[in-house]
Amino acid sequence: MTLKEKTQRAAALAVLEPLIKYIKKNPQDNLVKLVDAVQRFAGPSFPAKNFDKIREGAADPDNVYSKLLIRAINDLHPDVLNGMAMALGLGVAAGTKKVRENREKYHCNIPFITLIDPTSACNLKCKGCWSAEYGHKLRLTYEEMESIVEQGRELGTHLYMFTGGEPLICKKEILKLCEKFPQCAFLAYTNATLVDQEFCDDLRRVGNLALAISIEGDEESNDFRRGDGAYKTSIEAMELLKKNGCMFGISVCYTSKNIYSVTSDEFLDDMIDKGVMFGLYFNYMPLGKGALPELIPDPEQRKYMYKRIRDLRNSKTGKSMFIMDFQGDGEYVGGCIAGGRNYFHINSAGDIEPCVFIHFSDSNIRTHTLLEALQNPLFMSFYKNQPFNDNHMRPCPMLENPDYLCKMVKETGAKSTDLIDQESAEDLCAKCRKFAAEWAPVAEEVWNSTPHKPSKTYYYRDTPEGKAEAAKKNNE
Ligand code: SF4
Ligand code: SF4
Repeated sequence: MTLKEKTQRAAALAVLEPLIKYIKKNPQDNLVKLVDAVQRFAGPSFPAKNFDKIREGAADPDNVYSKLLIRAINDLHPDVLNGMAMALGLGVAAGTKKVRENREKYHCNIPFITLIDPTSACNLKCKGCWSAEYGHKLRLTYEEMESIVEQGRELGTHLYMFTGGEPLICKKEILKLCEKFPQCAFLAYTNATLVDQEFCDDLRRVGNLALAISIEGDEESNDFRRGDGAYKTSIEAMELLKKNGCMFGISVCYTSKNIYSVTSDEFLDDMIDKGVMFGLYFNYMPLGKGALPELIPDPEQRKYMYKRIRDLRNSKTGKSMFIMDFQGDGEYVGGCIAGGRNYFHINSAGDIEPCVFIHFSDSNIRTHTLLEALQNPLFMSFYKNQPFNDNHMRPCPMLENPDYLCKMVKETGAKSTDLIDQESAEDLCAKCRKFAAEWAPVAEEVWNSTPHKPSKTYYYRDTPEGKAEAAKKNNE
């Protein structure tokens, strides 16, 4: 940490620690004071009216997000509340400003978030996933991960997520990173098998690491793919994390088979009872030669998901958890966020990929800096071509606009990074074409019949010209 960051952190902690103690005494009455404090830390990086909206919700005891905040204040350990508030309030807010400046300076995408696979290995053997077979051969060293975060911080990136494989196989290295970079917020997607009391103690100590536990519905549907006993293990881990005041949510891959079960009231109410604070939903992607395209939700199911997620988020009648659907929420971020526009992914071989689902690359951390990767042809191709569709219900250059991925891979000479059985862009996109063609008319009908607010994050090519282009579009 720089001296300036240390001073800011000490000043913020001096205010935050007693404030959290005070708020914990009477959360409902004091919620608005908490929002005021967060706004003070976050400074001018976010529009004031966003905070006004949060303040309005916080003052209403029936608002589901006010209930969520109260749950967080009551359930989370003070060290976790402090750690997350410091990372998100100070680090991410300062980082946002730096990201924007660097986009102008370097004329390329600069991300808010970086995903890292510390290892390809996994201790489970879910159907359709080859992680268990990779073994421990592919692994990033601590020094490599430290360098990724150092370089990222220079660019402004303050949010890091660990995917895999099972990232908690490398929990020592992950905890070391969390300690070294208290101004960054970290999240690990995990199967929860390695969560124990000692790890919960570590989570409380560092404060800036949350978990997203993978789950695929009730016990029967979860264990069908993830193996007998996997559901029980996840639930036991949730109970332990809740008891220890750690922050966690769920990560859900929805398919044509489980889409209704993972969005049911029963499932979500049960997850809230278990202490889940957030739900991150991902559409099944037919990646790799063993993929099953029939698991892609069909157009009617995608339409259902679009409406269901909005109902679940309704501030009066929804669920008291933070829910995001990565394939259905394009309208809030202007479509595809890959290629460094908001995020990118580094696999356990060090390949720098545009997205966790796009296994093609022209750069590796062992031969390129992150900035070089962002300026190399593949990422610049994302920069120049985003958005891939003006209908943000069809955001993806692979799933919904497969011609784009084939074209970009061909033009840039990017190579397949599949760790087991390399697949060409043509073969991958061929599995998406049927869905893309059937989804297009349904997506057009829903998009054209739904009002959309102009987004503040519709910046493509985040330079003065890009901002002018976005403003023109927002006014149309
Ligand atoms: S837990 Fe995740 S990484 Fe491990 S085998 Fe299952 S799907 Fe693959
Ligand atoms: S490449 Fe596809 S899956 Fe990845 S962020 Fe873009 S739209 Fe989403």
